[in-house]
Amino acid sequence: MIPIAMPVLAEQEADAARAAVLSGWVSQGPQVAAFEREFAAFVGAPFACAVSNCTTALQLALAALDVGPGDEVITASHSFIATANSIRNQGAVPIFVDVDPETYNIDPRRLADAITPRTRAIIAVHQMGMPCDLGALTALADRHGITLIEDAACAAGSEIQIKENWERIGKPHGHIACFSFHPRKVITTGEGGMLTTADADLDRKFRLLRQHGMSVPDTVRHGSSQVIFEEYLVSGYNFRMTDMQAAIGRKQLERLPDLVARRRAVAARYAELLGNFEGLRLPTEPKWAKSNWQSYCVRLPNRLDQRSVMQNLLDQGIATRRGIMCSHREPPYVKAAQRHDLRHSELAQDRSILLPIYAQMSEAEQLHVAECLKAELAKG
Ligand SMILES: *Cc1c(COP(=O)(O)O)cnc(C)c1O
Repeated sequence: MIPIAMPVLAEQEADAARAAVLSGWVSQGPQVAAFEREFAAFVGAPFACAVSNCTTALQLALAALDVGPGDEVITASHSFIATANSIRNQGAVPIFVDVDPETYNIDPRRLADAITPRTRAIIAVHQMGMPCDLGALTALADRHGITLIEDAACAAGSEIQIKENWERIGKPHGHIACFSFHPRKVITTGEGGMLTTADADLDRKFRLLRQHGMSVPDTVRHGSSQVIFEEYLVSGYNFRMTDMQAAIGRKQLERLPDLVARRRAVAARYAELLGNFEGLRLPTEPKWAKSNWQSYCVRLPNRLDQRSVMQNLLDQGIATRRGIMCSHREPPYVKAAQRHDLRHSELAQDRSILLPIYAQMSEAEQLHVAECLKAELAKG
């Protein structure tokens, strides 16, 4: 069986988790602090704050900006539903904008039309690890005085060219970037998330809100020779990461450059193998972007039925997934008050499939995928 994805987890991660357990400190503690420092250094961000997952990271970003009832947040419907849920969980209204069919990312030209006096933030998703057009998005956000949050759930290790330099996603280029360490992403801690920012004030708010609004963290009280009474300054959340997760995350982060290099090689091989298949559209990387290839999404020709192609591949031992979902088609969001044209999002969901991609993928596995897909295309 060729799975859709496979995390790389080995003795290093197991040993790190074991050491955290045996240290006696298992909740948010020294491992979380070290993971934050190392992640910040990796992406080139001044601040990084670890949390329980990326859904809570996005919600925390909105909470730190005081986004709430009556506010609108513009985002892509064509994203994992967590993006929309984070907005609704905060009491605000998600406004969905269509994607560019070439990159599956939010289309900055359409975004401008969706801005109203109620718009407080934009959540731009680096879908499947492919960087958004941050040049256009930051200019638009600045012009309208709106905060730009990057949903970088899938984009650890992705890069974007800014003037002459290649920079990692998460610097951040917007005001805040949010990452996920779910096993479907390129590095994993089981569950986990991270917010990065260059704004010290926002970072301070993240830290306060992720831990119940507590004025003096337990780590500080634990190490103090003086009795300290903490206060709860605002009503916050419990969005903490554990030290076992962070210990695993530090080992995963060490692997990240190699994992991304391997995924890029697998993606390049797919491009060679599938490049001349009649009617199959391969993913394209803008010249200013380098994906980490969290997913590899191909568009099927209209003549083929998505479900039967997927079933036939599954029958031959190849797991695939349909194109990224559209939140506005799911029950909680069907009646979304405001609706812009989402044609390209719907087409991307209905006409695309995700092929297996993971760092350990072998040449033989890729050849098998290519052969079976070729047979499907010949049927149409
Ligand atoms: C996976 C994902 C999330 C949610 O991440 P969790 O860590 O599982 O909460 C959010 N946005 C996008 C685009 C994702 O792919």
